[in-house]
Amino acid sequence: MTEPCPWIICEHCDAVYAPVPLLSGQKSLCQRCGGVLERGQGLSIQQLFALSVTALILFLFANIFPVISISLKGLANAATLWQSVEALAQGQISLIAAVAGLCIILAPGLQILLLCWLLSYANVGLRAPGFKACMRTLEQLRPWSMLEVCLLGILVAIVKLGGMLSVHPGLGLWALAMLTVLIILISGKSIRRLWTELEDSDQ
Ligand SMILES: [Zn+2]
Repeated sequence: MTEPCPWIICEHCDAVYAPVPLLSGQKSLCQRCGGVLERGQGLSIQQLFALSVTALILFLFANIFPVISISLKGLANAATLWQSVEALAQGQISLIAAVAGLCIILAPGLQILLLCWLLSYANVGLRAPGFKACMRTLEQLRPWSMLEVCLLGILVAIVKLGGMLSVHPGLGLWALAMLTVLIILISGKSIRRLWTELEDSDQ
C-alpha cells in the first residue's frame, strides 16, 4: 500500500492539519473556521458498491417508467423524465431543456456509471483503469447532478395540478425519490477515500 497523504487541508479556509483516526459517526472540525475536515467511514467499500448497483437499477426505473400521470374526464397522459425534457425542447426555452437534460439525466447517469466502475474494482482492492480521470470527473459532476431539485419540482407540480386534474405519481417518481437519497449517500465525500485506500499502480 502507498503511504496515505500525511496532511489534510480545510476546504473552506486552507488551514492544514494532521489527520486523526476517526470512528464511524465521528467527524473532525477545522479549529479556525469550524468546517468539517473529515468524517468517520460509515459504509464499507462493499456496501458502497452494492448501493451503486442499486442506484443504477433505480436510475433505469426512473427513466423507463412515467414519473407523473394526469387524467381529466377520461383522458390520461403520462410522462417519463426524458419525455419532460423533450417537451421542454419543443417549446421556446430549449436552452432550459439542455440544462434540465444535463442535470437530471446525463450527470446523474454518468455519476452512477463511474461509481459502479470504480467500486467494482475497489471491491476487490484494485484501482479501476482510468482511476484518476474517473475520480476527478466524479468530483466535477457533483454540482451538476440535481436530482433533488428535480424531485422537489415534480412534487410541487403534483400538488399544484392536484386541484385541477387527477394527478398520480408514477413508478418512476418512487424510483427517483429513492435514487436521490442513494446518490447523496454514495457520491459524497466518502468516495474520496479511494484515493488513499487503494494501491497506486502506474496509471
Ligand atoms: Zn477551516
